[in-house]
Formats: sequence, C-alpha cells, structure tokens
Amino acid sequence: MSGRIGIDLGGTKIDAIALSEAGEALFEKRVATPKTYEGIVAAIGSLVQEAGDGKVGIGAPGSRSRVTGLWRNANIVVCNGKPFQADLEAVIGRPVKMENDANCFALSEAIDGAGQGYSVVAFFTVGTALGGGLVVNGKLIVGANGEAGEFGHTALPWPNDSEWPLLPCFCGKAGCAEQYVSGTGLQRDHRCVAGEDISAKEIVARARGGDAQAQASLQRLQDRFARVAANISCVVDPDVFVIGGGLSELPELVEHLAPLISRYSFSGTAEVKVVRAKHGEKSGVRGAARLWD
Ligand SMILES: [Zn+2]
Repeated sequence: MSGRIGIDLGGTKIDAIALSEAGEALFEKRVATPKTYEGIVAAIGSLVQEAGDGKVGIGAPGSRSRVTGLWRNANIVVCNGKPFQADLEAVIGRPVKMENDANCFALSEAIDGAGQGYSVVAFFTVGTALGGGLVVNGKLIVGANGEAGEFGHTALPWPNDSEWPLLPCFCGKAGCAEQYVSGTGLQRDHRCVAGEDISAKEIVARARGGDAQAQASLQRLQDRFARVAANISCVVDPDVFVIGGGLSELPELVEHLAPLISRYSFSGTAEVKVVRAKHGEKSGVRGAARLWD
C-alpha cells in the first residue's frame, strides 16, 4: 500500500488514513489516545506502520516552535515541551510533516472539500474552541512564526457597550475571538446573560423550541462570529469562508452568516460566500495526508 498517510491526533482518539493521489481512502483506522507521551508516540508509530508506505503528515493540537523545535500550546499537555516531531520521525523511520490540526482541516477543505476551486480559502472550526486556517492557491499559509490563521486569537472586533470588560483568554490576553465564538463561549455568555448554566447543545435545543433567551444567545454568537469574519475580510478578503466543527451544523453560523459579514465589511456591501465543511470530522486526517506537496 502506498500513497499519502495522514494522522490526526485528538484528545480522545487518533485517526489514521492512507489516501490515493485521487483522494480515495485506502486504509482507515482509529485508536484511543494513550495517556502518556511515550504511549502517543508509539501508537502513531504503529498506525503508520499499518498504513504502509507513503509520505507521512501529522496533524495535532499546538505547534512546533521554530526556535527550539519543541512542541507547544497543545491541549494534550503531555506533548508540550517535547521534541515531538523528532521523536515521531525516529519511531516512524522517515521524515514527517507536522501541522496544527486546524491548519490540516483547512488544507483538506481547500484541496478537495467545500473550498475546492477557490483561490483564497479562510477556514474556521467552531467547536469547544475556535480554530482557523488560511489556504491560498492550494498552499497552507503558515506564516513566519507559525501563527497565521490563528483566527481564534484575533480580537473580537468592534465590541459594544455590553461586551466590556473583555474576557480573559488562556493565551494571556483579553478579548480573543475564541472566548466568544465557540461552544464554551456560547455557554458562558448564556450563563452570564440568562443566568442558566446549560450546555451549548441545550441552548440550541431551547432556541429551536422557542425560548427567547436562548434565541438571543444564539443571535449574539452569530453577530460576534460575523464581526470576527469581517475582520478577516479586511486582511485577505477570502473567496470563501468554510465553516467546520461541531457548531457548523447551525444555519446561523453558515447559511445565514454571509449577509451579516457583508454588513460588517469595510464597504458594508461585500459579496461574501460562506459554506459548510464537506469532510466533517475526517477533514483533519485528510488534510494531514495532504501536508506533502
Ligand atoms: Zn487568546
């Protein structure tokens, strides 16, 4: 078996795929994520061995420091401060490419997903957190410091009176988009405004059932997302926004978003295209397999 091998490391599972050049899955396997760093490295090593020959790309939360070569900013904290890529290359026995998982998502959707055929693709994954990625002409824009496409840590633009003081973010600053535009952000916002501590899923269910406060919470989420996206438009004015992640099933964050982004755009009339990710949760592993040209 040969082709492109992708690995997607998540908090609870590791996905592996082998893709033909045409994008057909030749091999797929999922295992539970081991608790230890050594366990994770070994598990990825054996998945690659099973997948066979081919170039190996790996998507994982966090990123590799260009300065130290060590992994950082991962919510799978056992990987932080470790020479993750070097250790994986040692166990796999060939060079690997590694990238942030949201970047892998973006690449997959741009190449043969919902962003296929567009030149500039801005990708958001809206789930527990807010990830992002930017692909131009089929190439992932990683940036000089590996920080390009970190849309979740751009600031919430144009805050209104009720949004002060801005919320602190784990990155050490205040007002990051992720604190507002995410399942966690929706839950906290609803708790602060409506006084009910219920899950994002429950908020959506109540909104669909006609609960006015839950509907207002969803509307604030949508408005904030539109502002964040309009800010991205001021930087790259993408041909398409692709939305993935658990909350992308909400029409408020996909089908109904474009007119709002347009309203917040510099001209106030920008023609904006917003589509839903095609490959769902498989985008991460498919994108990892695409990391090699
Ligand atoms: Zn932040």
